[in-house]
Amino acid sequence: MPGEWIPAAGPNFMVGRSGRKISQVVLHTTVGTMPATIATFQNPGRIASAHYVVGLDGRVVNMVRESDTAFHSGNWEENLISIGIEHVDDGDFNGPRTPQLYAASIALVGDLCQRYAIPRDRAHIRKHSEVSDSPTACPDALAVDRIVAGAALFGGGGGELNQEDNDMYFPRDPGSQKIYAVYEQNGHMVKRALTQADWPVYAATGANFHDVTDAGVLAKLLALPDAAAGGAGAAVDLKPVLDAIAAIKPGAVDLAPVLAAVAKVQAKLDKDLA
Ligand SMILES: [Zn+2]
Repeated sequence: MPGEWIPAAGPNFMVGRSGRKISQVVLHTTVGTMPATIATFQNPGRIASAHYVVGLDGRVVNMVRESDTAFHSGNWEENLISIGIEHVDDGDFNGPRTPQLYAASIALVGDLCQRYAIPRDRAHIRKHSEVSDSPTACPDALAVDRIVAGAALFGGGGGELNQEDNDMYFPRDPGSQKIYAVYEQNGHMVKRALTQADWPVYAATGANFHDVTDAGVLAKLLALPDAAAGGAGAAVDLKPVLDAIAAIKPGAVDLAPVLAAVAKVQAKLDKDLA
């Protein structure tokens, strides 16, 4: 399971799911800080928990195993079928959240949708207020539609690997959870961290978005020079990389030529930048 494991207290969740299948994600806002939220879920008297807590800095904490039932939605049947995600707001529940929080939430929700075959839509990614038996405004100003749209575009497994002229690759750094756009700039392959402001721009291009799941390709793409840092790198021949990507065919994906071409470019960059 993704994130840092800090278990909730035993009375705050139920082992197992009474045979129910995980089919929804419920989003919350903490009305508090990360330490206060962790303390609440570790307090055996609270009888409350969520599977995950996402911080304003993008930190992801896992407090209840996905296979167990967290007490988060105010609806027992909903608890049995859902994964609950708290979003830290430092008490400012109607204020803006950070790009880091949204990026981490999108990555987490996308990953859950991928692993449990949950449709990436608002019928399956719910606000606490939409499922609770008792009135609540949770998750207040958390931009739930933004998270759902982001998970559909950029989350784990988002997009299909098809060959089109306008393919774009978005490797996600498993450490920082940052998502990068990889593209050509002045004859160099570079990466640039995505911001929330970039997404509508990329979406408007009509490009096919590819999540990068192959560990070798991911490492190579993440090792590319950072465009924002001004490091376009030394002159390299991108043609083999672009040719290899262009040669990917639906249903018959062979990443070896891409890996080999990227490795050659990386070797050249390493040499030139040394
Ligand atoms: Zn809530």
